[in-house]
Amino acid sequence: MGPMRDWAIFPTLITAIAAIVGVAGTARAQRLPTTVTPSHYDLNFTVDLERASFDGTETIQVDVAQPTQQIVLNAAEIAFREVTIGTGSSRQKATVSLNEARQTATLSVTKALPKGRTEIHISYAGILNGKLRGFYLSTEKDRRYAVTQFEATDARRAFPSFDEPSLKATFDISLTIDRQDSAISNGSVISDTPAADASRHIVRFSTTPKMSTYLVAMAVGRWSCLEGAADSVPIRVCGVEGKQEMGRTALDMTQQILKFYNTYFAIKYPYGKLDLLAVPDFAAGAMENTAAIFYRERDLLVDPKDASLGARKRIATVIAHEMAHQWFGDLVTMKWWDDIWLNEGFANWMESRPLATIRPDWNIAVDEAVDNQAALGLDALRNTHAVHAAVESPAEIDEAFDAITYQKGASVLRMVENYLGPDTFRRGVNTYLQAHAYGNATSQDFWSTMAAVSGKPVDRILPTFINQPGAPLLEVSLSCVNNRSQLDISQQRFSLDPALPETPQARSKQRWQIPVCVKAGSGAGGCDLIADNNQTLSLGPSCVPWAFANAGAQGYYRTAYSPETLRALAPRIEEALTPPERLSLAGDEWALVRAGRHTAADYLTLASGFAHEHTNGVLSNVADRLDFIADYLTDAGSRPRFQGFVRSLFGPLFQEIGFTSTTVDSDERRALRATLIATMGTTGEDEQVAAAARAALDRALAGGPPLDATLSRSIIAVAAARGDRALFDALLAASEGATSPDERYRYLYALAEFRDPALIDRALEYSLTSKLRSQDTSAYFARFFANEGARPRAWAFLKQHWAELEPKLTIFGGDTTVTGALSSFCDAAARDDIKAFFAQHPLPAAARTLNQTVERINNCVALRSAQTPVVTSWLAAR
Ligand SMILES: [Zn+2]
Repeated sequence: MGPMRDWAIFPTLITAIAAIVGVAGTARAQRLPTTVTPSHYDLNFTVDLERASFDGTETIQVDVAQPTQQIVLNAAEIAFREVTIGTGSSRQKATVSLNEARQTATLSVTKALPKGRTEIHISYAGILNGKLRGFYLSTEKDRRYAVTQFEATDARRAFPSFDEPSLKATFDISLTIDRQDSAISNGSVISDTPAADASRHIVRFSTTPKMSTYLVAMAVGRWSCLEGAADSVPIRVCGVEGKQEMGRTALDMTQQILKFYNTYFAIKYPYGKLDLLAVPDFAAGAMENTAAIFYRERDLLVDPKDASLGARKRIATVIAHEMAHQWFGDLVTMKWWDDIWLNEGFANWMESRPLATIRPDWNIAVDEAVDNQAALGLDALRNTHAVHAAVESPAEIDEAFDAITYQKGASVLRMVENYLGPDTFRRGVNTYLQAHAYGNATSQDFWSTMAAVSGKPVDRILPTFINQPGAPLLEVSLSCVNNRSQLDISQQRFSLDPALPETPQARSKQRWQIPVCVKAGSGAGGCDLIADNNQTLSLGPSCVPWAFANAGAQGYYRTAYSPETLRALAPRIEEALTPPERLSLAGDEWALVRAGRHTAADYLTLASGFAHEHTNGVLSNVADRLDFIADYLTDAGSRPRFQGFVRSLFGPLFQEIGFTSTTVDSDERRALRATLIATMGTTGEDEQVAAAARAALDRALAGGPPLDATLSRSIIAVAAARGDRALFDALLAASEGATSPDERYRYLYALAEFRDPALIDRALEYSLTSKLRSQDTSAYFARFFANEGARPRAWAFLKQHWAELEPKLTIFGGDTTVTGALSSFCDAAARDDIKAFFAQHPLPAAARTLNQTVERINNCVALRSAQTPVVTSWLAAR
């Protein structure tokens, strides 16, 4: 699945999840018995959009491994009508007993089924629910749509099934639907005939390849599509009628990406056709259903004349991610959900490969470095988890879709790719895919293949990163002895909590096998495997002036330099380090502050060296940290002075870049300008920038020159922070009248940026109205917690209206988004209140996120008391 969170806006919210209560005994009980396995499903649905229901008839061909009188399969929200098992004269009626807690149905017959092939015939009724999972109802204006979202465990809500990823089968699907509606599924349409009832027609699809149940897809409604092709594969980009033109950008990107993947992979795109569909209500960002990928509208549709860089990049990234899944996930599927990183880590790693080729100007390598930082940030918590971790229940499986699975999985793959070289890595990937095509695989299958293909110890490296939680910290010191340079490197687990690991024994036990790449002055450097607690790398027969221990910023580790080593490196940062390397250095330094190893003064001194930073991804990372310092580590006395520091630091660069875009400005320059406007206007409280933002926004809202789409979020946020009622009303009207998703969200989310309490309250009330879709509620709500002025009001509102909000906030990923956003509190009273509230109102799929939030608040409380005086004296000494 594609992430539902808005990475671009909420880098600090890439928090995560998962309470692993994986006691083997109870856990096992969630899996189906292995006696009976499916090979083919025949599925016929008659969909009634008006009644929000459907009827199903189903035949499952199964293999019985040993004689049995019972077959257990998965079912939820299903009303069984009739079940028979067998063929011809041996066909017998079965009784059904349901276990709601385990979401299973047990079919029992009086005469034992013999070993061998048989058939299960089921007729049943189902509902189109409003929960955005299973087979559900989506609405847009006065029209209704029926759409599926089955990952991870919701195919069972549409048809009784052996709903586990390793129980692959082929599927024949037919849909009986209203005459005006069309249908999209995994297969191509092979027939479309009138139904007995003249108001309906029957659409049949071609047989799918062998695949997992969670990848089955159906969508019914008034869709319309753009058509294209690449390498003879027909491609369609579809949406609700009237929106298809906004699919042009996506279609163009999809064609290019398919060609790229067909070149990269030894197995060419295997599914004959590819449909991409934008759905009005969708819980995740997107879903990689085989050959029928479904998206929320903002991840597929964009107005090419008014599209921010963020929107275009996001669409390209999500398309590349979901298409990568056609190989990693759909063709080769993890054996069980404990290896979901084989889907998600791989798709996240792969998504940047085509984009780096198609849009080299987008600096994708910097985005990758940002992702590394996000994963390392989460992995520094006590409440992190191993990439490969036991999960059994549906809630535990949902929790596993987090930054550790996605970002850490991808980071670790990039590190290994960098270590082996891209060609060797690619050969390994292709060998792995060919060995398991149309089947399943485990982590071990992957690293054994990689080790065999490369001849390098990938099978020793990867388990240390995949099977144990946390990330290593390398302490690095450069010295020169007898005219020979050396780097002394020691490793230990990096933790924000100084008390973790608890004991010296635990500390020495957790070790990683780390491919470390070093870049050093005089052209020295290279890659080596760090396997011991302490190791010395030779940098050659001369005294090199400086060294950087994460060349390419692809290593999944933090680095702490000795003071002399850092002093030697500092003057070279701008000229000798690449943008991803600069980002990694700044990220590591900030992490060391949060861990209590360095001071905020150290960080501010380092940040002062970024006054000429022209790479937006790097600048915005530093600017975010400065914004954090302004919010949390200043007091009433020091804050104006800190704002002055921010203005003086970035003022010259802002002068150079300017407030207004010109037609020849590159995407990168616009993005840099957007960061500078937000930083000067909000963190720096620059009056002139704020006035310019409001004036430009007023002109645009009044029908004057439109805002540069890439700048619009920053301009609107700066204006809204000081905004009045007139602006609030105008933004609300603009969001409701917007035609493209990018436009709608840029106005909608700005409602959470106001500081006026009366306006904040109005914006909060809006979350209760039907105008805000369930799919958007958690992301909308999370924004109020990022706003210092709105934070306590939003929390009070959330508690007060929990009964109404809970159903909207607990759709896939929403509960972790909101509980994660609460980590912006930084006081013990709020922490205790949050704990108490969720003890009373438990969120099973966000239990771990809540623990992480408490941990982050504790860290912030300690940081605030230790570092606020440090910031004050640093400012005084400037
Ligand atoms: Zn995915």
